[in-house]
Amino acid sequence: MAAEAALKEGAQVSIYDAMPSVARKFLMAGKSGLNISHSEEEKLFRSRYRAPDARLDGLIAAFGPGDVERWMNGLGIESFRGSSGRVFPVMMKASPLLRAWLARLRTSGARLHVRHRWQGWDEAGALVFATPEGEVRLEADSVILALGGASWSRLGSDGAWAQLLAAMGVELAPFQPSNCGFEVAWSKRLLDGFEGAPLKGVKLSAGRQSAQGDVVITKRGVESGALYPLSADLLRQIEDTGSASLEIDLLPDVDMGTLRRRLAAANPKESSSNRLRKAARLDRTKIALVNEISRGAPPAEAGDLAAFLKALPVRIDAPVPMDEAISTSGGVSWDALDDRLMLKALPGVYCAGEMIDWDAPTGGYLLTACLAMGRASGKAAANHHI
Ligand SMILES: Cc1cc2nc3c(=O)[nH]c(=O)nc-3n(C[C@H](O)[C@H](O)[C@H](O)COP(=O)(O)OP(=O)(O)OC[C@H]3O[C@@H](n4cnc5c(N)ncnc54)[C@H](O)[C@@H]3O)c2cc1C
Repeated sequence: MAAEAALKEGAQVSIYDAMPSVARKFLMAGKSGLNISHSEEEKLFRSRYRAPDARLDGLIAAFGPGDVERWMNGLGIESFRGSSGRVFPVMMKASPLLRAWLARLRTSGARLHVRHRWQGWDEAGALVFATPEGEVRLEADSVILALGGASWSRLGSDGAWAQLLAAMGVELAPFQPSNCGFEVAWSKRLLDGFEGAPLKGVKLSAGRQSAQGDVVITKRGVESGALYPLSADLLRQIEDTGSASLEIDLLPDVDMGTLRRRLAAANPKESSSNRLRKAARLDRTKIALVNEISRGAPPAEAGDLAAFLKALPVRIDAPVPMDEAISTSGGVSWDALDDRLMLKALPGVYCAGEMIDWDAPTGGYLLTACLAMGRASGKAAANHHI
């Protein structure tokens, strides 16, 4: 997006990427539907971002969800709004959009160079790249870095750039996983029977946040898109106290009174598991989780059991390793940037995207902000005069 904006301003643009092809994370994001933006009311949309600076808000005000949709439509890709308001390309995948976008960039004069790993600057201020043909040095009037966060490193975003910028005196915030799964110390017994099994249609709560969906029991703990909106709260709890508490409502569609009555009406001679299966209508995975959390002894009294099933406390020990997170916060601090996203310590060098210190839940917010920052930095870099 930065390249496109710079080309529009009349600049000559070359794009360099370390990987053998560009936009691998963008393509991966499209694997289960490229959620490129969100059609909710603008004020609500902008309130989703967690950035320690108002500049991000200004950038999204200048290029928001409607602009993203129009831009995508302009590339011949129709958009589709899901029932939740999320915006996708109608074909869901990212590849047709990327193909059309790259073709337009090439036609507009952008030159693409892959397998070019940027390694910093030499003594004369030239950019240094490692390539299969050896080192390449080149000079540019201005530079835009859009090097991504520090997760899914196999797609290119390994965060190694942070050391290069730190060495140049750029202020950085430590990377943190965001929109991620969490570690739970499950028993061997639960994992032997239920690793990979989904807890269907549960409601998750942490602090004041809650979300509903399926949650998968993994070897490490729990993984689910429904966890992502809670991840900032869970991470804060872990940071403050060393662990966090996730509440799982196994029956979000059954109110407490109804559940208590159903449990109270069960045959008292019934085993605990049969009562959970017949009266509470829990499946095997949910029953296994109840037994795991209660150490095989769920509350016997109907009211206590109903309350337990509607707020099962799961102790979270840590986030999954950062490389597995959907996104990361941290990176270039806002104090290191001027109002045009230029690094104060490195005149002529601009930044955009996930490499800057901001955070948002999934739902199209991440890509929208990256595109907005790309557009702003491209425009500014093209008009940079030394
Ligand atoms: C599985 C998955 C699903 C996702 N789904 C969604 C979604 O549906 N909606 C949404 O909004 N967001 C989604 N995201 C997040 C979104 O993809 C990212 O926030 C976004 O791609 C970040 O864009 P970026 O341009 O800042 O960085 P990236 O897309 O990470 O691109 C950075 C580029 O920099 C290159 N690079 C890094 N270091 C160097 C170097 N030294 N030299 C040269 N090149 C270098 C990398 O190779 C890479 O191509 C998803 C992420 C994942 C992992």
